[in-house]
Amino acid sequence: MSKIIPNDVKWRDISPGGIITDAGNSAEFKTGDWRSERPVWLTDKCKQCLLCYPTCPDTSIVIDEEGKRQDFDYDHCKGCGVCKQVCPFGAIEMKPEGGNN
Ligand code: SF4
Ligand code: SF4
Repeated sequence: MSKIIPNDVKWRDISPGGIITDAGNSAEFKTGDWRSERPVWLTDKCKQCLLCYPTCPDTSIVIDEEGKRQDFDYDHCKGCGVCKQVCPFGAIEMKPEGGNN
């Protein structure tokens, strides 16, 4: 999981991204520390409809071998909030990163 960094961190201090040396190497860069908000999965509201899964631009919604949605991949989620927007059941909330919540 990504470390939590202070909100006043400078851009030079965060993980690099967009460095392509080999096919698929972007997974090696833990770019989740770019995030200022994090999605929180509310399992009691989730209906496993999987509408959120294809909308994530960072492939950060994990699906298990049985086709069930699991928790977010916080190493790579950028906190864009698209998944929250598309969830028809209110099963995703956005929370400030690094806060006490
Ligand atoms: S907040 Fe954005 S990057 Fe993170 S899981 Fe949702 S859609 Fe993907
Ligand atoms: S869109 Fe919402 S209800 Fe559907 S799988 Fe994703 S979190 Fe669960």
